[in-house]
Formats: sequence, structure tokens, C-alpha cells
Amino acid sequence: MTGVLEHLWNARFVAAAALVLMLVLGVGRAHALQDRAVEATAVRLLDDGKSTTFELTISKGLTAQVYTLANPYRVVLDLPQMDFRLDAAAGKTGRGVVSAFRYGLFAQNKARVVLDTTGPVGIVSAGMTRVPGSKAMRLAVVLVPMDAAAFGAGTGALLAAAEPADLGSDLAPPESADRKHKDHAKPVIVIDPGHGGIDPGALGANNVAEKSVVLAVALQLKAALLKTRRYDVKMTRTDDVFVSLERRLKFSGENDADLFISLHADSIEEKSIADSIRGATVYTLSDRASDEQARIMADKENASDLIAGVGSAKNDGGEEVKNILIDLLKRETSNFSADFSHVLAKRLGQAITMSRIPRKSAAFKVLKQPHAPSVLVELGYMSNSTQEQEMMTSDWQSKVAEAIASAVQSYFSKRTAAQP
Ligand code: ZN
Repeated sequence: MTGVLEHLWNARFVAAAALVLMLVLGVGRAHALQDRAVEATAVRLLDDGKSTTFELTISKGLTAQVYTLANPYRVVLDLPQMDFRLDAAAGKTGRGVVSAFRYGLFAQNKARVVLDTTGPVGIVSAGMTRVPGSKAMRLAVVLVPMDAAAFGAGTGALLAAAEPADLGSDLAPPESADRKHKDHAKPVIVIDPGHGGIDPGALGANNVAEKSVVLAVALQLKAALLKTRRYDVKMTRTDDVFVSLERRLKFSGENDADLFISLHADSIEEKSIADSIRGATVYTLSDRASDEQARIMADKENASDLIAGVGSAKNDGGEEVKNILIDLLKRETSNFSADFSHVLAKRLGQAITMSRIPRKSAAFKVLKQPHAPSVLVELGYMSNSTQEQEMMTSDWQSKVAEAIASAVQSYFSKRTAAQP
């Protein structure tokens, strides 16, 4: 038995482009995984000039799928849920054909590692071996560069896009799917904390992840709104799990949202200006970005699915944006979004620092909602270390939550008053 465990998978697959490898380690052991969480305790990249090895040390054997993706070129490892107890800097720098990597929860019961590669690569071998003298296993994936023609295109794309349905609790479909807008007893507010799981979002000066800050604010906002007893509040995620942009949109539609609030935070890489830039910005949807910085911001936020290994840059291009434009013809929704962004920028400005231009617009995918007025808030810049520290405090988070909640109150009281 032990012999089998130690060396189950080590096939060679240099030429095949569409690689989907199953690493099954100890078939009978798969159930035991549910009992105790697997831990990833160490990770490293090795390169000998010919091949690059990604090596992950895990507390026990497991089942994994390893496959390649194109546009951009990546290697994805799909794993059971696990705790990543790795160095905070892990994955930020690359080696050999791996330029960087990310890891995290992809869905409630599924973890994922995404390796960004410098070009098309082939998987030479993928396997697990026992770490001598311990129960831990070492999962190793060996990669070599190959030319684009041999690689093919989008090899594991279908696997990568398969998002399991059992996500955070709020993601369950509403009780009655055909519930109509007018039947709402209370307005439905959908709070959308950006990123999550394998997609950390922006990283602050001291490595605080955007996904954590926005989830903390979202939970406080939910509490603040529920306190008023006037709203039905739903969240696209309630813990550190990845949710695709498409799923966020679908969730909003299924819940017949009356207002959609997406929460984000930014970070800029240019060290020379990182300290001088701070403040919040409220974004609404537009076909053409209000300025160059807004366009870059939308590109950044729209890349969330790519970062998690879902979709490809090829499919995320112009067509999508054109559809946004068509939906923008839904003028009423767009006007309501503008109304809310107005009052939101004002209320936020009374509580926290706003950026120089506090209201902007750009083609954010997550705002592509013909049915619901929607805004995306960049709460601040975590590249400014003072602001990063502040954003981590519960005090700041509750200040923001209260300001957004009061904007919601003001927006709905106006809308109610305007109705005949
Ligand atoms: Zn973001």
C-alpha cells in the first residue's frame, strides 16, 4: 500500500497539448480528506535551465487535476479544499518558465493554484512523493517551454471554468425564481465584495489583500443595513472564496436586486507616487471611461476571472464591452445608478478621504446590469501604507459601512417620495 502511495503518478507527456492529469493518491484515502483539512506548508520553484519544477508540500495525499490554459498561458492545479500556510511572499516572483503564481479557495470545497508562465509550456510530469520521515507529501509539477503551435489553444478551459455550485450561503438561488420586482416587500440590496479565494485583488504596501478589506466592510455594511429593517440584504460572497464576475451578475439578477454595490480597494505599483495617492472613488458603468485612470481601473477589475484561471483574454475582449453599450440603453437604470453614485460620494466624503475626482465611470463588467442600478466603490489605496493600516481597522470599516448605509437610506427615501 505504501509503495503505491509513494509513486503513483509520474508519466511523461511532453508533446501533448491538452493535458489533464489526475493525481490520485491512495484511492481509499479520498474520504479521509473530508475529516481533517489538508494543509499546504511549503512551496518552491526549481529550475535547472531545461525544466521548471513547481513543488508544493502538503500534509497528506490527495486528488488533483493539472492542466494548461492559453490566453494568457497558465498552468492550473485543481485541488480539494486546503489551508495554505505559506509565506506571504510566495508566488510574487517567478523562476524558469513560471513568472508568478497564486493560490486560494476557488469554491467552498475546492482549492486552486494558478501558475502564470512566460509562454506556452508542456507538463513533463506531475506526481506526489512522500517527504522522507513524515506523513507529508510533495506534489511536483515539472514544466518545459514549448512552441505555440505544439501547445494548441485553451487546453483545459472547460475544466477551469467549471465553478461548483455550492458557494457561500447567500449564493443559493432565491426561494422563488420568478418573483417579480414589484412584489418585493423590501428593496433588495446586493453587496458584492470583490475578488476572494485564489484572486486576492490588489495587495497593499504591507501585503494586506483587497479581498479581506472589502469583505470586512461588506459584512459591516450588511449589518448596518439590516439594523434599519428596511432592506433585504444579499452578499455575493460571505467568506474567502472565489466568485466569477458572471456569477456575481447572475446572482444579482436572480435575486432581483434593487441596488448593487460592488466593493473594491486599489493599490498602485509605482513606488514614487504610492504615498501621495489616496482616497475613495465611486464608479458607474459607461461605454467610454471618464478618464484614462478609470479605464485602467476597469481593466484591472475585469481581469478577476483571468487571475483565477476562468476564461481567457481572447473571450474577454470587445464583444463583451459592446454588449455593455447596448444595455446602457436602459436609461432608467443608468440614471438611478448616477443618482446613487452622487449621494454615495457625498456621504462617503463626510466619513473618509475621497480621491481628487470622486465620481468616475468606465466599462466594469460587474456593473453590466440592465435591471439594477449599480455602483463600484474603490474604497482607497492600500499602496499608501498609512491608508492601508487605517483600512484594516474595524473603526474605519464601520465608518465606511455607516456612510454607505446612510446613502442607501437617502437614495430609497427619494425614490419612494418620487413615486406617484
Ligand atoms: Zn478590486
